[in-house]
Amino acid sequence: MVPQVVVSRRGQDRLLSGHPWIFRSDVKKTAGATSGSVVGVRNVRGDRLGQAFYSKESQIALRIITSADENIDEAFWRVRLASALRYRKGLSSSTTAYRWVHGESDGIPSLVVDRYGDYLSVQTLSRGTERLKSTLVDLMVELARPVGVLERNDPKVRALEGLPLVKSTLYGEVPRSVRVQEEGIFFHANLWDGQKTGLFLDQRENRLAAARYASGRALDVFSYDGGYSMHLARVCEKVLAVDTSGEALARLRSNAEANHFTNIETIEANAFDLLRDFVDRREVFDTVVLDPPAFAKNRASVAQARRGYKEINLRALKLLRPGGYLITSTCSYHLTEVQFLSVLAAATADVGARSILVEKRAQARDHPVLLTMPETHYLKCLVLQKR
Ligand code: SAH
Repeated sequence: MVPQVVVSRRGQDRLLSGHPWIFRSDVKKTAGATSGSVVGVRNVRGDRLGQAFYSKESQIALRIITSADENIDEAFWRVRLASALRYRKGLSSSTTAYRWVHGESDGIPSLVVDRYGDYLSVQTLSRGTERLKSTLVDLMVELARPVGVLERNDPKVRALEGLPLVKSTLYGEVPRSVRVQEEGIFFHANLWDGQKTGLFLDQRENRLAAARYASGRALDVFSYDGGYSMHLARVCEKVLAVDTSGEALARLRSNAEANHFTNIETIEANAFDLLRDFVDRREVFDTVVLDPPAFAKNRASVAQARRGYKEINLRALKLLRPGGYLITSTCSYHLTEVQFLSVLAAATADVGARSILVEKRAQARDHPVLLTMPETHYLKCLVLQKR
């Protein structure tokens, strides 16, 4: 018998709005459900609302898997994984590195699977997917025939589920570095120790967009291992890449070498200081890319984050020649697109420039936004032209 968890009216409303998370405060009765198991979800009257992963440790008590009364077995997960893979194959992007499963958006809450050529990197971010890990990995092996599967279960959110932070091989063997190709550019992805699962796959399509507008002298700020720099180097005379991580910049240089680019220079510096210095020195660029880490980690830090975003964007606009392009991102889901636009408007007004909005973008389509879950629209990328 599948245990039945009863949720409050508020929980039910949330569920009916399509949001897949029910918080602990909206759970009325758990009827002894074990953490990580699939449970039935009911309202206070006893009506069936769906089925969910239950987590005893987390504030996110329930993660809805389906609203239907269906069997949740291996065959069910095979269908979900296969349909997520089919969607990626239909995106007609030329890349050997992409996200196969983006959690809630793909109907497999709290599971992340990234593909790097012959290798998979997996994150099980709740009790539910943690408990199902070996079944899911078997299915991934069956569907994609990887040479190795790594678990990059070191994101801090795991701690909120009372789960340990671990990195280990779940299948086959996984090398330290894997060479992948993204739209004609080679990258060395550090699967074990790189940020996220190795590369910032979510910026892939924005990098291509940037290359559509970029020219001349380009500045790539918060470059990491050169995701943007490589694509800028295709079309610009000169690219300056800036990051605080010397390790990331070393990888950037090896990526540049793999692509035979000789027009990229790296600068190890704090972006805030460097932008200020460049403005003081009246440096001029034709293209500036800003891709900082999330400044707003929670709702409380939004005001401070806005100041940070304003500062770097204002300086970037100062550095641009009239007619130049700014490609600017925020990956803080707490900062909405509307708020980000208002930050850019304030920055452009302070600079005394006119900027036009050329494109409003989000994360790449292999990280799909679930329409009923605003949290999945975390990355906002704007392309502006300074006039
Ligand atoms: N643009 C990259 C991803 C950037 S991730 C891509 O497309 O792949 C954010 C980067 O900002 C990280 O590499 C981090 O090392 C760097 N970083 C964080 N704080 C910084 C600061 N104050 N100055 C410069 N770089 C910083």
